[in-house]
Amino acid sequence: MKNTRIGIIGAGPSGLAQLRAFEAAEKKGFDVPEIVCFEKQENWGGMWNYSWRTGVGKYGEPIHSSMYKYLWSNGPKECLEFSDYSFDEHFKKPISSYPPRPVLFDYIQGRINKSNAKDFIRFNTTARWVSFDEDTKKFTIILDDLKNDKTYSEEFDYLIIASGHFSTPNMPHFKGIENFPGNVMHAHDFRGADQFKDQNILLIGSSYSAEDIGIQCHKHGAESVTLSYRSSPIGVDWPEGVKEVPLLTHFDGETAHFKDGHSENFDAVILCTGYQHKFPFLPDELRLKTTNNLYPDNLYKGIFFNEVPQLIYLGMQDQYYTFNMFDTQAWLARDYMMNRFEIPNKEERRKDIDSWLEKNDKLKSSVDHVDFQTDYIQELINLSDYPDFDLNKVAAMFKEWLNDKSENILTYRDKTFKSVVTGTVAAEHHTEWMDELDDSKERYLIREAKEKELS
Ligand code: FAD
Ligand code: NAP
Ligand code: MG
Repeated sequence: MKNTRIGIIGAGPSGLAQLRAFEAAEKKGFDVPEIVCFEKQENWGGMWNYSWRTGVGKYGEPIHSSMYKYLWSNGPKECLEFSDYSFDEHFKKPISSYPPRPVLFDYIQGRINKSNAKDFIRFNTTARWVSFDEDTKKFTIILDDLKNDKTYSEEFDYLIIASGHFSTPNMPHFKGIENFPGNVMHAHDFRGADQFKDQNILLIGSSYSAEDIGIQCHKHGAESVTLSYRSSPIGVDWPEGVKEVPLLTHFDGETAHFKDGHSENFDAVILCTGYQHKFPFLPDELRLKTTNNLYPDNLYKGIFFNEVPQLIYLGMQDQYYTFNMFDTQAWLARDYMMNRFEIPNKEERRKDIDSWLEKNDKLKSSVDHVDFQTDYIQELINLSDYPDFDLNKVAAMFKEWLNDKSENILTYRDKTFKSVVTGTVAAEHHTEWMDELDDSKERYLIREAKEKELS
């Protein structure tokens, strides 16, 4: 199929899943198309490729990663495990269920390093603009080779958008925030809790970023952490020094005023107000327009853009499942591009999308959300040869995780789960999460941590 060209934008977990899917087909003896993956960063891994920088990178491109020091997985690793590359295969020994970022980054790289995927990736290359020709049915991408400062363009038959959607901050305005005397930042620019030691900090938002950054700051010595919610509080039993309050109405200098009438002074404000799906390289008619939710509209099977199905979006859903969901999507996308999976006409596709949207509308609890995404992935698994894994067991682990968090937000990361890929029970980490201040891979992998010698 070397006369078919496939372009992939982004070499994060989703883009890498697409490369891996083609590698798997090639290993089975299939003739695969020509593939080129464009990645604006110097390395792969997307979000997991930590940057100390905020704002822009060395070539002036917006920094992609929103991750920070001391970021530990916020869900059990057994819920995201690749079914064709287990944690056991990578680490050669059981590890804990909630590894820190560098350890998960290492795992992602382990699978892809076994292939020649790097040969297909053009790093330091930004996709600047995409157009689609209705007559030739080809995409033209304008690219910037950042290192050599050269612009060029290439044509493709299929285009995969794997550029992520947790990078462009949603930055709402609050009256008076422009005169707040302390540090004001979005979660995207948060790089670690150190600078907030001994401070009273205000976090706006009540989702994963607010929860995790709040707890990190508490763990690393913030004086107090206040989370301000718009719709509903996270609602767990917070430790002393952390609390949830209703939405902020306005600032008056360093004083924040809230909907319930109370006011308080703060040293710093972190907007944990989510992200925008932002595709500055796509024209309006090709662009996915959505909020962060479990079934973005206009994507057949959650991936094929209904207007132009040769345009495929990976990983655009809000995520309970991550790496294994991207895999199931990439495997199906691959089969479509290799003429092994046929899609129905536009009206049929529309009906299928609508049926998922209706189900999505009816979801109420987090448990419903988990079940919905589980059903979605099960459907994809049924449609391709991605190695089966027991999704019901994974869903049960997600539900246990939800329970563990509401029981104790400070200790849930000390729990262990059993892999559905290998049956291995996770090891307990040598140090309880609340006492573990070092997130390096070296420290993590020490079998018997000699606490005293290390500290
Ligand atoms: P990304 O990882 O965002 O990768 C997209 C890639 O596209 C990037 O490398 C980017 O540089 C590239 N790109 C973007 N635009 C262009 C362009 N124009 N040209 C070229 N390249 C481009 N998931 C978990 O499973 N566990 C966790 O603990 C977890 N923690 C998270 C913490 C934070 C703070 C955030 C924001 C997310 C977290 N996630 C976590 C979810 C995370 O989104 C996924 O794990 C995963 O990184 C998504 O993969 P992706 O490839 O779809 O997108
Ligand atoms: P999110 O889940 O989309 O949540 C956005 C939050 O911002 C919601 O609470 C929303 O409130 C609030 N919000 C939006 N606009 C607002 C406004 N104008 N005023 C007040 N509140 C507003 O985004 P996120 O929390 O940044 O999470 C993004 C991703 O990062 C998730 O996939 C998460 O798993 C991941 N993450 C992981 C870790 C980790 O520990 N590994 C840490 C951080 C983040 P409403 O409910 O009212 O809409
Ligand atoms: Mg199958």
